[in-house]
Amino acid sequence: MPLRVLVIDLQERDAPAEEGAPAEPVRNPRVFVNPQILEPSEEHSIYNEGCLSVPEIYAEVERPAAIRARWQDLDGTVREEAMDGLMATCLQHEMDHLEGVLFIDRLSRLKRTMALKKLEKLRKAA
Ligand SMILES: [Zn+2]
Repeated sequence: MPLRVLVIDLQERDAPAEEGAPAEPVRNPRVFVNPQILEPSEEHSIYNEGCLSVPEIYAEVERPAAIRARWQDLDGTVREEAMDGLMATCLQHEMDHLEGVLFIDRLSRLKRTMALKKLEKLRKAA
């Protein structure tokens, strides 16, 4: 059976130990095997998304604001969780990758063309 696997680490920052000290990113990689999205909310939210696959390109992408996700963990245990905010957006973004879809594919034709032109320029300059 083919496995579809993705890992998300939001590296959310802990409150600094001392006032004025920089917040430490907390590593918390989460593994999702064969993830599914259930019950995407009708309400959408917009995040300024970026992606390692299209470096230095950022664009606002609209996605369901909340989802219920179902996946298996590394032991094969089926898990389900309601998600919203950055986690919901991130999971949807990463699940797109499993289908070969990049966030720029979700932009309007004009914005996508502009993003691709910028990417082409960056590649030539590199
Ligand atoms: Zn990505």
